[in-house]
Amino acid sequence: MFKLRSYQQETIDKVYQSMRSGHRRIVVQQPPRTGKTVIMAEIARKTTAKGNRVMFIIHRKEVLEQAIETFKLQGVDMNLTTMGMVQTLTRRINQLDKPQLILVDEAHHALAKSYLNILDAFPNAYVLYFTATPIRTGHDQLDKIADDIVTGKSIKWLTGHHFLAPFHYYGLGDIDRSKLRKSNGDYSSESMDQAISHEIYGHIVEQYQRLAKGKQAVVYCHSIESAKKITQQFEQAGITAAEVDGNTEVALRDELVQKFRDQKLTILANVNLFTEGVDLPNVDCVIMARPTSSLALYLQFSMRCLNPRKGKTAIIIDHVDNFLTFGLPNNDRNWSEAIVTKDKRKAKLSTENGPAIAQCNYCFGTFYRDQIVDDCCPLCGHELKKKTKDYKIVNVDLQEIKENQAVNHRKAMIQKILSDQVMANVADKSVGQLHTLKEFQAYAKLHSYSPGWAWYQFNNRRKKKW
Ligand SMILES: [Zn+2]
Repeated sequence: MFKLRSYQQETIDKVYQSMRSGHRRIVVQQPPRTGKTVIMAEIARKTTAKGNRVMFIIHRKEVLEQAIETFKLQGVDMNLTTMGMVQTLTRRINQLDKPQLILVDEAHHALAKSYLNILDAFPNAYVLYFTATPIRTGHDQLDKIADDIVTGKSIKWLTGHHFLAPFHYYGLGDIDRSKLRKSNGDYSSESMDQAISHEIYGHIVEQYQRLAKGKQAVVYCHSIESAKKITQQFEQAGITAAEVDGNTEVALRDELVQKFRDQKLTILANVNLFTEGVDLPNVDCVIMARPTSSLALYLQFSMRCLNPRKGKTAIIIDHVDNFLTFGLPNNDRNWSEAIVTKDKRKAKLSTENGPAIAQCNYCFGTFYRDQIVDDCCPLCGHELKKKTKDYKIVNVDLQEIKENQAVNHRKAMIQKILSDQVMANVADKSVGQLHTLKEFQAYAKLHSYSPGWAWYQFNNRRKKKW
């Protein structure tokens, strides 16, 4: 049996409180990687212990098997429990025992017809909708099927209490976001092909070596072709890497995942596989090479590397500027607001800005403006210029962001770094580490300082030496 963490118990207490005050269909929000299944198992245990029946609905097979294991370990009476994939259950509705409680996993999908069929068949059951992201990309929101929401602790709180690892976030802009087009709730693969720069394959390896060398990393790719190219680039650089996608045979996929778990593989690239559930405990770095317009996917991607370990700081490398759509993973999000279908929402709230995000022109670290201490980058310590532009991130439900000057400036800088060897050499140095006049000049160019600054600094340094 799992010993519940304090915040897991708190969520369970809140659920029962909501039920006691008369709610029957409750959204339960709990961030990724915080043991949602254990919470469901504990509620199922308590329910079956009283002789009541439980139904558990899920939409991916891999996750179902893990959930059954967890329920058994938690001591749920499996004779009183029906667990299955939504497609299976919806076909067998007439044969199903009537549950007193229905648990829906990944419930941001729960407005789909297959779910509604099941829910409508048992109108008297209590329903708990579990999800990390109670928001849909379409018009209707979960208030159509729920009458209350219980929210878990914020990601900032969970990090502060060592339940999630802290992270450094880098936004690298290898994408032209104006080319992205949506279809079926996310960007179309065609538009992603056009939007992503072809230079990305080389950049991914370079930036991995600059920011996360040696760390085990999962790469999220938008196509099988790109996943294969990225894997090749890593191998050419002498880094062990493999690629898995929907076409990979299950036996081979399991073997590669096991190799990664055993730390015999450093890089694992995937296409739409490592989203919900799949357990990869030792990921220390996430590389996003795939844009998404789904907040659920964004948080599943970026938070994949946040399993905590003593002394660990996870590295999130965002080549496609997903942060422009969603802010950083630990943005405080108003979930009670998010579950309300738009036409009912107050206009004032839905146009509210998220917290300002700033970026370091030196390491491309991406952080909240309030993390800046003494005008220095909280990631590399480099002094930030006063004119550093803010990225304004709007609320999760408003997904159209206009690229601003800061993005363009960064793109130009990345180009310069890549085309100029001296500049590349000074890019990860501080002023104190510069020696030659050329280095000072490259540094001045990189940070938009005047040429006079380079002369002054260089001469000053010579004086000090003598
Ligand atoms: Zn920095």
